[in-house]
Amino acid sequence: LIELSGVNKYYGELHVLQDVDLTVGRGEVVVVIGPSGSGKSTLCRTMNRLETIESGTISIDGQPLPEEGRALATLRAEVGMVFQSFNLFAHKTVLANVSLAQTKVRGRKKDEADKRSRELLERVGLEDQADKLPAQLSGGQQQRVAIARALAMDPKVMLFDEPTSALDPEMINEVLEVMQQLARDGMTMVVVTHEMGFARSAANRVVFMADGRIVEDRTPEGFFTAPESDRAKDFLSKIL
Ligand code: ATP
Ligand code: MG
Repeated sequence: LIELSGVNKYYGELHVLQDVDLTVGRGEVVVVIGPSGSGKSTLCRTMNRLETIESGTISIDGQPLPEEGRALATLRAEVGMVFQSFNLFAHKTVLANVSLAQTKVRGRKKDEADKRSRELLERVGLEDQADKLPAQLSGGQQQRVAIARALAMDPKVMLFDEPTSALDPEMINEVLEVMQQLARDGMTMVVVTHEMGFARSAANRVVFMADGRIVEDRTPEGFFTAPESDRAKDFLSKIL
């Protein structure tokens, strides 16, 4: 479904993605881990053209990523993204937050969008919170709204960049559970996370990055029980 081949990206002198090859099949869950600054966020951002690349190709569903215009807006809708910060509209209700892009980007009528939003809010366990403002919700609830909002675009794939890093510990699980359920429902997912429990239980593959390169691309079992590279061994010894 997603194919990156020979991708290189620079920030000035810094070679932040180096010859990255990555394939994510339909329904696959790929967890990306690695030290700070290794290029995980940049990798996510290249996949929906929030970042340009200097060389290589990226395609989704066999289509190369568009450069601009309408096709780019469609791509962004098809590649759902959830960040560490939830970026909800503070002055709009939860329901309006989930409905907004459906009317603007997908061209749905308001009634239709609201109906879909309520279904999705139920799916993330927030059906009672539709009329509240984001500030009236906990961090974990806000992140679940952000997930519902991304799902409302009927994405082909969901990218998560450290979705639980900004949350208080007691709220992490409610977000991971929603993500687990999404994985079980067959969503294609790329997840940058430090939650190794999630990686072990939900991932089909673990991609370990260091210095802008993919150093290992393995099953979670293989990676956690027998990391091959010194970088991965060192990383795991620090976090486990
Ligand atoms: P973290 O675990 O801290 O989130 P990361 O693996 O997501 O790290 P990236 O955010 O992708 O790492 O950053 C990779 C490298 O690129 C880092 O050295 C970072 O300082 C640099 N970088 C990121 N964004 C920019 C930018 N907009 N301009 C210049 N350099 C950047
Ligand atoms: Mg990052």
